[in-house]
Amino acid sequence: MTEHYDVVIIGSGAGGGTLAWKLAPTGKRVLLIERGGYLKRERDNWETDAVFLRGKYTTTETWLDLDDKEFVPEQNYYVGGNTKFYGAALFRLRPEDFGEITHHGGLSPAWPLGYDDYEPWYGEAEQLYHVHGAAGEDPTDGPRSAPYPYPAVQHEPRIQQLNDDLERLGLHPSHLPIGVLLDQNDAGQATHTSTCIRCDRVDGFPCLVDGKADAQVVAVDPALEHPNVELWTNVKVERLETDASGRQVTAVVATTPDAKEVRASGDIVVVACGALNSSLLLLRSANDAYPSGLANRSDQVGRNYMRHNNVALMALSREPNPTRFQKTLTLNEWYLKGEDDDHPWGGIQMLGKADGEQLKGKAPHFLAWAARRVPERPLTEMAHHSVDFWLSSEDLPHADNRLTIDKDSTIRLAIKETNPEGLKRLRKKFESMLGDLGMHEGTHERSLYLHEAMDIAATAHQAGTVRFGTDPTTSALDTDCKAHDLDNLYVVDSSFFPSIGAVNPTLTIIANALRVGQHLSERLG
Ligand SMILES: Cc1cc2nc3c(=O)[nH]c(=O)nc-3n(C[C@H](O)[C@H](O)[C@H](O)COP(=O)(O)OP(=O)(O)OC[C@H]3O[C@@H](n4cnc5c(N)ncnc54)[C@H](O)[C@@H]3O)c2cc1C
Ligand code: SF4
Repeated sequence: MTEHYDVVIIGSGAGGGTLAWKLAPTGKRVLLIERGGYLKRERDNWETDAVFLRGKYTTTETWLDLDDKEFVPEQNYYVGGNTKFYGAALFRLRPEDFGEITHHGGLSPAWPLGYDDYEPWYGEAEQLYHVHGAAGEDPTDGPRSAPYPYPAVQHEPRIQQLNDDLERLGLHPSHLPIGVLLDQNDAGQATHTSTCIRCDRVDGFPCLVDGKADAQVVAVDPALEHPNVELWTNVKVERLETDASGRQVTAVVATTPDAKEVRASGDIVVVACGALNSSLLLLRSANDAYPSGLANRSDQVGRNYMRHNNVALMALSREPNPTRFQKTLTLNEWYLKGEDDDHPWGGIQMLGKADGEQLKGKAPHFLAWAARRVPERPLTEMAHHSVDFWLSSEDLPHADNRLTIDKDSTIRLAIKETNPEGLKRLRKKFESMLGDLGMHEGTHERSLYLHEAMDIAATAHQAGTVRFGTDPTTSALDTDCKAHDLDNLYVVDSSFFPSIGAVNPTLTIIANALRVGQHLSERLG
């Protein structure tokens, strides 16, 4: 039997979970289908060994690259999706990111909508995801119609020192916008009623005390308080069926862990599986009307995959760095334009603090590196001196950077680096400043962050594989994120990005889900 709903949403992460929250008060029957279950709350949530060294919570599926090399994509299948593990750095794209930008490596294409179209939704997104920040500090920020809903998370002393040193160099560091359920006292400590306890596990770990504003905590669970919203967990959608004309999705076909087939249908069907899995689902749903994949008459589905040019760097502070909650500072000085360079470089932000166990996991490389700098210090002490940074630069959409399915069902991801120059120059500039920032010369690449995955497996910031636009020959979705080719199919996750900017993508995914949610509420009456 196929149960019918007003809206079926596939995937409960930043896109799907937020959309369910937005639609819940409409009273429409909403079904949310999630391939994973609730993430088990246990000590291991906060154990470096379990999360980073053993990859206990990450998928075990393997995909292939173009050279037939196997890799495990950085994906986490749970209620709340990858936001259960994200660092909750929730930036708005800069207004310029919505226009065309010339980079060293080529053109970053314009979006069909502008910053002004997203501004009100960014505000609602910041409210929903408890974003703490300070307006007016970051010179690249766009105009805002409302202040941040929560005050910026205060710097701990070593990071305040870093902020002051950067300002002394004439630069403009600012507080990093971050989504945590934190109430601070005047000294910046968590109050006794705060859900977030301001610990050192904020980046890459799931939050054991539900203090992180992830999609499960702030969107899915509150949506489920409405009797019209239903959640199926551990149900993986395999394909979508259409009517003969190909204009309507008529069934969502899924399997349970014991391989039983279950089906649902909806007046509206929303795919929100994350950019890679959403394009996979559409490609797997090929039929007579769509021989190369559902909603793919443009041949854009699976193409233009982007994920940022990133590097995680560890520097050694001369003074100890006892910071616990380190993700409080960002520097976007060269985001729009590099130094003596007309092209953008990208941004710098703090990462969660590396601990001794993470460093031990990388001991052979790390020891050699650290021994050259401070031979007298033992490894464990190094963790107390590390300061951890994330440098992020824009990569560009390219038709050949794409996900495909071989005839034997093998999933294959092709990726060729685009626009590496900005990140190279940003890193060089950053490293040249270390002496002035109270640190030893040189940096160490902290590749264990994101599970060693700075290569093809680094899919954390995936975007762009089902892009939106006004021209159905060059985009798969219209500006409401409805498939050009179908009447009742939407894609509401990171897939729709025509270009990715250089800031973390999730606030834009959330803002877009709220925007499309408003459109769907109106469409459903
Ligand atoms: C370690 C880490 C740190 C990060 N830090 C940040 C950060 O600080 N700031 C930031 O902006 N972003 C960060 N990100 C990225 C952020 O998590 C993603 O941008 C965001 O979660 C994407 O939202 P989404 O809705 O597109 O996909 P997801 O959140 O991945 O949700 C997709 C959901 O669909 C489900 N699903 C997939 N296929 C199917 C199927 N066939 N059937 C049913 N369900 C399915 C998945 O299980 C998942 O729950 C980080 C990611 C990681 C991994
Ligand atoms: S800092 Fe707060 S949100 Fe992050 S893991 Fe600790 S308690 Fe959770």
